[in-house]
Amino acid sequence: MRILFPAVLLLWIAATGPVAAQEPTPPLLIRDVTLIDGTDGPPRPHHDVMVRDGRIETVAPTGGFDAFEGRVIDGSDRFLIPGLVDAHVHLAGGRRAAAEQQLRWLLEGGVTSVRDMAGDARMLAGLQQSLITGEISGPRLDYVALLAGTAFMSDPRLQAATRGYAEGESPYMIPVNEDTDAGAVVRLAKGTGATGVKLYAALDPAQVEALTAAAHEVGLQVWAHSAVFPARPVEILEAGVDGVSHAPYVIWDAAEPTPDFTLRAVGDFQGVPPDGAAMDRVVDAMVRAGTVFDPTLFVFERQAEADDDTARARAAWGAAFTRRAHEAGVIIAAGTDNAGAPLAGAWPHVHEEMELLVERAGLSPLDALRAGTRGGAAALGDLAHRGTVEPGKLADLVLLSADPTLDIAHSTAIERVFQGGRVVR
Ligand SMILES: [Zn+2]
Repeated sequence: MRILFPAVLLLWIAATGPVAAQEPTPPLLIRDVTLIDGTDGPPRPHHDVMVRDGRIETVAPTGGFDAFEGRVIDGSDRFLIPGLVDAHVHLAGGRRAAAEQQLRWLLEGGVTSVRDMAGDARMLAGLQQSLITGEISGPRLDYVALLAGTAFMSDPRLQAATRGYAEGESPYMIPVNEDTDAGAVVRLAKGTGATGVKLYAALDPAQVEALTAAAHEVGLQVWAHSAVFPARPVEILEAGVDGVSHAPYVIWDAAEPTPDFTLRAVGDFQGVPPDGAAMDRVVDAMVRAGTVFDPTLFVFERQAEADDDTARARAAWGAAFTRRAHEAGVIIAAGTDNAGAPLAGAWPHVHEEMELLVERAGLSPLDALRAGTRGGAAALGDLAHRGTVEPGKLADLVLLSADPTLDIAHSTAIERVFQGGRVVR
């Protein structure tokens, strides 16, 4: 037994990933609800969803649970969706107490999973552990170790996140140069508890390819900025990364890469049409590779609110490209690039990201909702356990009092939030 137990435990961790604390809870029945399950199917009225041991056990037309023993919640005139996923947050930029407050605010706002796209992994690992044990409450948390060319190592954000380490020596923000052993680097990254690596900046195509292959070999996801310089967007996609972030930066496939990666936000947004032949190449590469794309319209929209022509052009271009990508069948994930400070009375910003996907990028409300649920689970590489309301999946659910397929703003008509079958709001 002493020998077997750790092996079994490891298998369990590999099979499920991090899960929130599972105190025994009675079975739960959500009765007679309109189910918007995150799959390609249409909404289904009059359905029952039965949850046991934190997982969805049965989804069936109403009427099969007359003698149900457990907690029953009346779903009539209500709408059940999968828990929302913000596929792009940064939680560990300040104090732990602030991150804890933010996590609580996210969960109560319907966000049951987040992907943190770079920060102090020591803090993120601690937060993840506290979430799993139930010591604090918040979304399930996955995070990254960041790999970038040495040009990035002097960035003040990196220096803040790696305080206490000699420059370039943290295992979660790792400098990469032509002598780097890709296998050694991804094993370091794996040891931080990260779900994936983030390829950030100043990498050439050969480095992107080597790091991607090595990361996949040790079971890490690979997520990249859509332009990392000098590698071009299509070169990143063809290297087989699992996801790319930020719509406007793909414009660099149509231009000479700037030697200074910090200029990536200043593309030729007037000159390069987002639906022209050059960008078709990017879209085709995304479709061929099945890449998950988080355009992060929210953060560019916020930048555009400052009175700045470039920022406005960048936001509009990014939205137009996202429209084109969605029409071609690219998998979209809703990510904000900023979970934001918890504001009294404000909803988590992923709701606004879904609204922008509808208003600016032409998605239907149902497609935007999929981007905020199944798309996010795809971004995490965890469709096996999250993202849809189907038997066997984690019971992360949101009950709404208004139909989000009529108006995506109804995603905030939140009555209850369930995580692992427990009512958390
Ligand atoms: Zn980011």
